[in-house]
Amino acid sequence: MSVIEKIKQIKAGKMTAEQNIKGFLNAIEKDNGNGRKINAVLSLNPNAVSDARKIDERIRKGQKVGKLAGAGIIVKANICVKNLECNCASLTLKDWKSPYDASVIQKIKKEDGIIIGIANMDEFACGGSGETSAFGVTKNPRNLTLIPGGTSSGSAASVAAGFCDLALGSDTGGSIRNPASHCGVVGLKPSYGAVSRYGLIDMAMSFDQIGPLARDIESAALLFDVIKGYDEHDPTTYNDEEHNKEITLEKIGKKIIIGVIKPLANKQVQSIIDDKISLMCEKLGWNKKQIEIKYIDVAVQTYYPIVYVEFFSGTRKFDGRRFGKKIEDVAGPEVLRRILGGSEISKAEYEGRYYKKALEVKQIIKEEFENAFKKVDCLIVPTCPGLPWKIGESMRVEEIYAYDALTIPANLAEICSVTIPAGIVSGVPVGMQVMCAKANEGKMLSIAREIEKL
Ligand code: GLN
Repeated sequence: MSVIEKIKQIKAGKMTAEQNIKGFLNAIEKDNGNGRKINAVLSLNPNAVSDARKIDERIRKGQKVGKLAGAGIIVKANICVKNLECNCASLTLKDWKSPYDASVIQKIKKEDGIIIGIANMDEFACGGSGETSAFGVTKNPRNLTLIPGGTSSGSAASVAAGFCDLALGSDTGGSIRNPASHCGVVGLKPSYGAVSRYGLIDMAMSFDQIGPLARDIESAALLFDVIKGYDEHDPTTYNDEEHNKEITLEKIGKKIIIGVIKPLANKQVQSIIDDKISLMCEKLGWNKKQIEIKYIDVAVQTYYPIVYVEFFSGTRKFDGRRFGKKIEDVAGPEVLRRILGGSEISKAEYEGRYYKKALEVKQIIKEEFENAFKKVDCLIVPTCPGLPWKIGESMRVEEIYAYDALTIPANLAEICSVTIPAGIVSGVPVGMQVMCAKANEGKMLSIAREIEKL
């Protein structure tokens, strides 16, 4: 049953929110630590069942309930949920409980969504495999020997394993889309500024966005609809016409022009995406157009100096004085590499050599995308250039960084992008991204839904 259908049933009293949440708690009990040991969930909300009962009670009394009534949601460990341990999967913040709700959590609670628990992730959202968590690697529910992708590893794995209806992740350079692709679920990275970052512990503040993971487009759209919009606590957020509208997935009235770029993924992955695009053209009468995005091949090199500097700056508050431990004393190698690298780049920055230069290239890439969207409705590209590797396989840092080559461009360009399952290679899901211009989530999701139906 889809989440949308389930919420309808709960509202109609045909099923209870309590049953829904208990079902998820049982699945977590069975497979998160015991059984399949997926390790996607770090901690549970002790009030989840009583919160569900309160919603059932209101439904019984005929009172109005919200858009997410009774839906169970798992939240990445870098998004603050009041009284739950939001530790960024790091020993730095182990045992730290958030004193407040992030804006997205306030909105979810207002619409009667139920927070089931907190998801595992790569430490401080640095990485891309789910292996850098201080609390153990998350396994890919589709194949337990493989990484689930990251850094929203636990969020994607929770959706794929049936631990929740919906999950929240964050995406700085692909962290929602990459694990969604590897776990065979939908992952939506909103345009920069579409969703408030208030209460998100930042990785790199000029790229970070919170977004939904779900089993289908319609439910991802529902959660996006709830969390989007202007927030006085985050000055980068906006409300424009597109975002004031409720995201209703309408049938696309016109023939879509799909932009494709030169192949950047391995052959197996690329051919799945190419076949899918051919199917769209054949079955939906859409057209494809070859597009050149200049400098897309230096996206990774542009992204990392910015991330290193902003991450270094953002982590200065973790000095162990007011809360937690000093980050340099307890964090893992990837976090330390970025702190060290960020501090060196900042020192050398007096001539505007690195950070400022990278920002200039970011701007050029952003304009390249803006021009592309004057010619096409969307771009369709693979989410990852290859297939998930085996847990524990040794990978060079450069290889791991290069793995984000197809997701980072959307963060540089500030546009929206959604990953949807496109096919299977040797039993492993392969995702593809549909990207649209900034603030065009409604159009993007409508296009994605047509593709999902094929
Ligand atoms: N893998 C990328 C990085 O390590 C993206 C991480 C993210 O989106 N949070 O920076």
